[in-house]
Amino acid sequence: MKEQFYNLEVDSMSWEVMSDREYPCPCKKGTYREISENDDWNNWREEVIMNCPSCKEKYVQHFFTKPDGEERWYWKEK
Ligand SMILES: [Zn+2]
Repeated sequence: MKEQFYNLEVDSMSWEVMSDREYPCPCKKGTYREISENDDWNNWREEVIMNCPSCKEKYVQHFFTKPDGEERWYWKEK
């Protein structure tokens, strides 16, 4: 897959990839990739890369906060 991979290296001397997984995309014909990283100060960040061209056109990541304060997101139709 030739997705240009966000320049993880650029700002990330201290970011370490903790998990890198692929999940089925909303149309089920492709996948998206979820990368979790963790730095020396125990900060977390997540990057999500849609690999499916049709879902990339159609869906965006929509973030919301659950009542208990946890941040979540889902694929929302544009
Ligand atoms: Zn798809």
